[in-house]
Amino acid sequence: MTDSSSKDRDLQTRIVQPEDRITPGFESFSVPVARASTVVFPDLASMRSLVWSDDSKWRYGLHGTPTTIALAQRLAAIEGGEFALLQPSGLAAISNIYFGLVKAGDHVLVPDNAYGPNRDHADWLAADFGLQVTYYDPMTGAGIADSIRPNTKLIWLEAPGSVTMEVQDVPAIVAVARAKGIVTAIDNTFSAGLAFKPFEHGVDISVQALTKYQSGGSDILMGATITRDEELHKKLKRARMRMGIGVSADDASLVLRSLPSMKVRYEAHDRTAYALAQWLKTRPEVKAVLHPALEDCPGHAFFARDFKGGAGGLFSIVFDGRYTSAQVDAFVEALELFSIGWSWGGAHSLAMPYNIRSMRTASQWPHGGVLVRFYVGLEAEADLRADLEAALAKAFA
Ligand SMILES: *Cc1c(COP(=O)(O)O)cnc(C)c1O
Repeated sequence: MTDSSSKDRDLQTRIVQPEDRITPGFESFSVPVARASTVVFPDLASMRSLVWSDDSKWRYGLHGTPTTIALAQRLAAIEGGEFALLQPSGLAAISNIYFGLVKAGDHVLVPDNAYGPNRDHADWLAADFGLQVTYYDPMTGAGIADSIRPNTKLIWLEAPGSVTMEVQDVPAIVAVARAKGIVTAIDNTFSAGLAFKPFEHGVDISVQALTKYQSGGSDILMGATITRDEELHKKLKRARMRMGIGVSADDASLVLRSLPSMKVRYEAHDRTAYALAQWLKTRPEVKAVLHPALEDCPGHAFFARDFKGGAGGLFSIVFDGRYTSAQVDAFVEALELFSIGWSWGGAHSLAMPYNIRSMRTASQWPHGGVLVRFYVGLEAEADLRADLEAALAKAFA
């Protein structure tokens, strides 16, 4: 009921403070988009009693709104974690881990096959911020012990590597790290948190580029850090707050919209990618197929042991060393259904050539030929196969 005094207010006041509110009792399947910079407190005492680390109270739009917190909670649940923070990209999530956990003079271990921009970030911190960084052979397993120094504070893992697909022996590396009190963080984007459960193997932090399968639309950039450990979560959260990073409720709501179909999409990508990988293995132009579920792939045994639910849409092939980079480029450009682009996880297939030897500093890349990474989208397998076959014929005739 409208009282007569509010009706008497100036139109401007009534526009800013309208009578109608969201219909009480409205229930829907979607999480409402809560956009806010200002969070309003009922009184000064509530404002003054706020503790920055207390997630049960709303404080400031940048720190979270009902939309972003709903997404964070759902992501933690998918992965088997307790706490999650959202960042505006997968790379921002990686950066949040560095700035939250290490400082000048600390030593960090990064796998030699790590996501390229993670390497670049580590190199930047080493060059300008006094961090010590060592790259290690991703297949080292328990041999990681040889690279640990008294000041080693963080070990990065990535399994499989997102271009060369080596599957690390995560439990072996984690066992060494745990014995020495070193934090482990895994870039688990490849499995979307579906096929590999890092916390079951003792990893402390999982990073997701939500840009990929969680978005599924090739139209959102977002990242997440997920953990079971409240103290680690608070360290990351404090760094995130200090760096002034958060995500928009609109973007979060689009990821929330895609999450229910993520597992079904992952399984569809996996079926088609596996079939194409097996077929490519029979081709004379192809020297090796690096698909974690196939034996050519380093760490295939660890994949078979630790992954439940497939490998999704990513895999790579290595062409025979007798083919030139120009021929492989011609193959990629001859593809019609595979576009040339970086960010995978959507409905569209992608292909990208890489010269791996120039990307390594700590391990031997055994293949002389050029690598092409495929991301297999949701197109029909027969059409993708025909496209690959035609491009192979055209480039290597
Ligand atoms: C894409 C990707 C990232 C970074 O995600 P952005 O949102 O593009 O910054 C990190 N790690 C892996 C393995 C990725 O594939």
